[in-house]
Amino acid sequence: MILGIDIGGSFTDMLLYDGKNFFIHSTVPTSMEKVKNEIEKIPDVDSIGIAIAAWLKEGKIMHAPNLPFKEFDLKLDVPYIMENDANCFAYAVSKIFNEKNLVGITVGTGIGMGIVIDGKIYHGMGLAGEIGHTFIGGDEPCVCGGKGHLECYFSGWSIRKRHGKEAKELFEKNKFPYDENFEIFCRALANATLLFDPSIIAIGGRIGGRLSKEKLHKIYDFLPSQFQPEIKVIKDDYMVAKGACYLAEEMKNKL
Ligand SMILES: [Zn+2]
Repeated sequence: MILGIDIGGSFTDMLLYDGKNFFIHSTVPTSMEKVKNEIEKIPDVDSIGIAIAAWLKEGKIMHAPNLPFKEFDLKLDVPYIMENDANCFAYAVSKIFNEKNLVGITVGTGIGMGIVIDGKIYHGMGLAGEIGHTFIGGDEPCVCGGKGHLECYFSGWSIRKRHGKEAKELFEKNKFPYDENFEIFCRALANATLLFDPSIIAIGGRIGGRLSKEKLHKIYDFLPSQFQPEIKVIKDDYMVAKGACYLAEEMKNKL
């Protein structure tokens, strides 16, 4: 059995995969100890895929502004592979929809982007796709240490910052202020489209998966008409964990 773990800024999702079907295992608040306890409860795991909301280079965490810990220091007895969460998301979309060129955007606590080119995750020097930290304007401080980044305008943490405790309640009542700075988000996605000309822009994550596809058509307002990517809203909160499972399966097959 393969275990896929999606370690996000607020929650960690775990999914089991037998090579054919996925089985939801659990969701716990993100902390190293809770993740460790959950893994120990699962017998017969032969490989693990870990998707993490962090900047990675060669499998090492370089920067993790949205995580409650700075280092991943779990000692695991089985082979594992660690990959950026948005990359896992984009990869799962590529596998499930059989699309070879796409971008996947996750919006949760922060914003991530995974790029799939010719069926493979594109890493650049390791950190490709950090659209959440592209400069939009202004001097609002960002969690990464910069200022005026996309996440300062549109992300779970910035909405929480603006609305305080009320944000959680708004989310649960399905009254989250998704429209706040929405156009800025759409402009950023249009820019990504111009850079990669994907066949699909897939949008997911706990906030992204709840955005309206019709409203996201705003992206087309900022694109030349020759660019017509399909916009897909992925309502599956386990898409990132699924991508981690696929990567762990491929790693296992290569061993
Ligand atoms: Zn930033």
